[in-house]
Amino acid sequence: MSIGISQTLRLPEELKVEEVELPSDKTALIIVDMQNDFVRKEGKLCVPDAEKTIPAIKRVLEKARGSGVTVVYTQDWHGRDDPEFRIWGEHARAGTWGAEIVEELKPREDEYVVRKLRYDGFYGTSLDHILRLHNIENLVITGTVANICVLHTAGSAALRWYNVVVPVDCVSALNEFDYAAALRQITFLYRGKLTTSEKLRFK
Ligand code: ZN
Repeated sequence: MSIGISQTLRLPEELKVEEVELPSDKTALIIVDMQNDFVRKEGKLCVPDAEKTIPAIKRVLEKARGSGVTVVYTQDWHGRDDPEFRIWGEHARAGTWGAEIVEELKPREDEYVVRKLRYDGFYGTSLDHILRLHNIENLVITGTVANICVLHTAGSAALRWYNVVVPVDCVSALNEFDYAAALRQITFLYRGKLTTSEKLRFK
């Protein structure tokens, strides 16, 4: 049975992208799940648009590295028979090629990699602890999937009163609806700001 929602939904208001400047010492860049299984076409759960976001994420990563911004990667990381496989099939199995972060965005030795079990980068991980050690107040969230792990991590961050900033060219989803819905939730519900990899600066 259909619930009768129009197939031509419109967003309640325009999503605005703005210039954003953030203090380097109080900001962390979070790169969510840019792993082979999600990014590469040979991956187990490929998001076709994710590969196209690599140059934009790299642009933000280089700005962050150049300004001394804390960089944290999340890495989906599942053991054998993880219950999530019942929803998505097997993906991001611990120790496999699919679970590795893509070569172009390879973490440096001095950067954090937080392995996570579910969509939310904070759930059952040391992410909040790491951010607090660095006195972080602002999170620039990039990666995939926009309406799944990016949105859950952004929401969980906002509930902890971190300011959330999302460069729209640095996130990807399986379709345009999911992409727009995620950005709408991030701005409307979590009071996050939208920017782009070009319009974002660290000072
Ligand atoms: Zn997973």
